[in-house]
Amino acid sequence: MSTTRTIERTIPALRTVEGGGFVVHRPFPTRLLMDFDPFLLLDEMGPVDYAPGEAKGAPDHPHRGFETVTYVLEGQFGHKDSAGHSGTLREGDVQWMTAGAGVVHSEMPDPEFTRTGGRVHGLQLWVNLPRRDKMIAPHYQEIASGKIPVAVSDDGRVRVKVIAGEALGVKAAIETRTPILYQHFSLQPGASVETRVPRDFRVFAYPLAGAGFYGADRTPVRAQQMVLFNDDGESVTLAAGDEPLEVLLIGGVPLKEPVVRYGPFVMNTEDEIRQAVIDYQAGRMGAITH
Ligand code: FE
Repeated sequence: MSTTRTIERTIPALRTVEGGGFVVHRPFPTRLLMDFDPFLLLDEMGPVDYAPGEAKGAPDHPHRGFETVTYVLEGQFGHKDSAGHSGTLREGDVQWMTAGAGVVHSEMPDPEFTRTGGRVHGLQLWVNLPRRDKMIAPHYQEIASGKIPVAVSDDGRVRVKVIAGEALGVKAAIETRTPILYQHFSLQPGASVETRVPRDFRVFAYPLAGAGFYGADRTPVRAQQMVLFNDDGESVTLAAGDEPLEVLLIGGVPLKEPVVRYGPFVMNTEDEIRQAVIDYQAGRMGAITH
């Protein structure tokens, strides 16, 4: 018996202001949905058009116990960290940062971009680490746009960037600590796709642009509404309406472990959170040299 998943519910993203003042659309965590095990947060940054001198970012801050995945759609994001690692992410690039035991980093526009201004649009996903991996050494995987595997449907009307997992027979370049899928589907008007998802994955879609139809009963959902699928099938069906559809499909195997969060630290117990605060204040997560 092969079935395509039905929809449990949809949740509108909340517009909020983060870090140094950048606008995000956040499907979770909000009061409607605290997390989506194994994911802790999804932020759609912008889209926002910055005037010269106005671009915002997130100055120096720590992370421990999880991974941050940054995917740039438009504009650019500069980053710098306490291990001496720095660079610029441009359109289509992905940075998968495993914070593990702790890192201090900044996510700021480069001076040149700040000077000229421009459009910024991107995503940040927080992937929780299992208890056994929370204190591993920090680690980065950076994949330039051109190195991200792409699959195209037989009819040529559906294209998917395979950031994590496998889609339409194409495997991702990024390695994940637990089984994760993260895929960006682009559908031409009227196109549809049924893509396989492992049975034990919890899966959601997050439409970025265009009206689409989701799940077994083709529920219409607009952009910036998170679509939560039930765990009742081996595939997910996505379909575009009269316009092109851009949609992320994200999923993973739930960790089913206690989650204690305190800002940028996500651990299993209150004691581990207290220790994270102590370690950060004692400089054990390092500092950025400016
Ligand atoms: Fe960060």
